[in-house]
Amino acid sequence: METHKTKVCIVGSGPAAHTAAIYAARAELTPLLFEGWMANDIAPGGQLTTTTDVENFPGFPDGILGVDLVAKFRKQSERFGTKIFTETVNKVDFSSKPFKLFTNTRTVLADAVIVSTGAVAKRLSFAGSGEGAGGFWNRGISACAVCDGAAPIFRDKPLVVIGGGDSAMEEANFLTKYGSKVYIIHRRDTFRASKIMQKRALSNPKIEVILNGSVVEAYGDENGKGVLGGLKVKNVVTGDVSDLKASGLFFAIGHEPATKFLDGQLELDEDGYVVTKPGTTKTSVAGVFAAGDVQDKKYRQAISAAGTGCMAALDAEHYLQEIGSQKVELGQVVRATPLTVYNGASTSTPFTVYNGVSTSTPFTVDNGETTGRRETRCKWSPAEDVVLINAWLNTDKYIIVATDQRASSFWKRIAAYYSSSPAAASLPKRESSHCKQRWQKINDSVCKFVECYDHALRQRTSGQSEDDVVQVAYQFYFDDCKKRFTLEHAWRKLRHSQKWYSYISKCSKSSGSSKRAKLDEGGTFSSSSNTKSNVEEHAMVARPIGVKSSKGEGENVVTKTTNEENVVTTKTTNEERESNSRSRLENLWALNEKDIAERNKLSRIELLRSLLGKTEKLSEKEETLKNKLIDEML
Ligand SMILES: Cc1cc2nc3c(=O)[nH]c(=O)nc-3n(C[C@H](O)[C@H](O)[C@H](O)COP(=O)(O)OP(=O)(O)OC[C@H]3O[C@@H](n4cnc5c(N)ncnc54)[C@H](O)[C@@H]3O)c2cc1C
Repeated sequence: METHKTKVCIVGSGPAAHTAAIYAARAELTPLLFEGWMANDIAPGGQLTTTTDVENFPGFPDGILGVDLVAKFRKQSERFGTKIFTETVNKVDFSSKPFKLFTNTRTVLADAVIVSTGAVAKRLSFAGSGEGAGGFWNRGISACAVCDGAAPIFRDKPLVVIGGGDSAMEEANFLTKYGSKVYIIHRRDTFRASKIMQKRALSNPKIEVILNGSVVEAYGDENGKGVLGGLKVKNVVTGDVSDLKASGLFFAIGHEPATKFLDGQLELDEDGYVVTKPGTTKTSVAGVFAAGDVQDKKYRQAISAAGTGCMAALDAEHYLQEIGSQKVELGQVVRATPLTVYNGASTSTPFTVYNGVSTSTPFTVDNGETTGRRETRCKWSPAEDVVLINAWLNTDKYIIVATDQRASSFWKRIAAYYSSSPAAASLPKRESSHCKQRWQKINDSVCKFVECYDHALRQRTSGQSEDDVVQVAYQFYFDDCKKRFTLEHAWRKLRHSQKWYSYISKCSKSSGSSKRAKLDEGGTFSSSSNTKSNVEEHAMVARPIGVKSSKGEGENVVTKTTNEENVVTTKTTNEERESNSRSRLENLWALNEKDIAERNKLSRIELLRSLLGKTEKLSEKEETLKNKLIDEML
């Protein structure tokens, strides 16, 4: 048995789980994800692996196979550093903190958990209902009217819904938009559905009801196309079997949410779905969140599952900020922030520690107040980074600052900008010192990543896309820094900012003399970045010399040991390093400009192509534009 400790553990492998993983990984929470192994008889990837074309997931105008879509989800999760285990979580312990999750081979201790184990659409089994030879599953038989109802094979054809509850009524109504007629087959003589739903369905002239009916066989169409052609329906009272022509059969007999492994540790509703506080993904246990079909019996769509996956990751992130999870050590007792639980009640019961030992309270978090050993450091989320970067880009800088006080005034203005930004309304408050520190980290890492990207760009081969180059840059960064680059959002924001480029370039030129400017604007040029890695070396070259070293004699002494006796001392002047640094930045800026020029060229070619491809007569303006573009190209 291996034991892992993580900030966030995600259980599930459908759109909800992977969206949560992408968000959590990008927020540097390094999530662990258990995708299950044939959990509830569904392959890793979830329900979408049981269908063919998905035509309603945005971004795929021509549709995409369910298995291909989930493969893309998985790839994107991994790209940002999610660690995925193909194992099923059998048991959990949410009674104490950290939460515990168990598989056959591992135990995970997690500060927050996201449950996104989905649900399984119930299906009936009869001759012709299966997937193999002679079966019509996905070839006329489906368990999701909303997903598949609009498919051409169902248009203006007789369709059947099996079921007697609200879903059956709703789906039958929905299908009347597409089918020539919709039969509801129910094996009892009365419906379970609410009166209002029954009334709505039964008053629809396109709907016909077959009570006491049970489908015993599905057969193919007359043309031998291998799609559903009709059903044999048995009357369960008389035993008579009749024939019903139908091109579509939809099971609406309910879903089974995958919640058994929770063993009653989260509040479930009468149908076994996890109960969440409306408008959030919070469950009855603080720190455990639920997303996707496991908590949604109404919408049950890939996109709505993905949406709640995003919410769960953001909810988990805020929760971790509140409890300061990074500082929680095993054995510590954490008192919950006053929390409104799903049913509207309020509780501030202390959490018990994961090992059941309750010691003196090392720290508490109550009403936002902190006491004891807890540090108040809160992790920055990508959303906060973006607000900070905007603040930096939109705040005037003093290039020459005489005193430290004025340096701090710059950061005070940044903090003021930050707190007045509408985008930061729901984000934690940040002091000017926090802003400065964070900016330094962002600037430092992004500078290094720019170097790696630049390097990757120069090695780009003909078949490589922009995404491939970014991946290579990630690899360079990891190889050199021994850690992942997690600030892509910041890089994307800064990479086309001329202001930022000219800032780092200006700092480079003025490095020897105006140290204050560096401090004032949160430059990263501290001697602490003097590590041995390639990237660090590059970054050191790309950036001006360290503040401390520039304070010294005005020259840096590098000592090289050739053998035990001979020590050769080489002197490198500041001028040489500055000149290196300047030329490197100039190269970088030139590359950036080249990149922009290349993009412009491509978009002009695209424009010309669309004008040339137009079948109708071009307007006068379009004609002029076309000729101008052709002239340019030639
Ligand atoms: C036949 C069919 C066709 C569909 N077509 C469409 C469509 O075209 N468009 C659309 O938007 N929606 C469609 N849907 C609905 C869509 O698939 C679901 O709404 C969506 O997949 C729900 O996503 P989810 O992340 O909540 O969970 P799921 O997709 O249900 O995935 C959850 C997965 O978690 C894993 N898991 C479960 N328990 C455990 C455990 N204990 N430990 C580890 N892992 C576990 C399993 O692999 C499980 O399948 C269709 C559904 C079906 C059944």
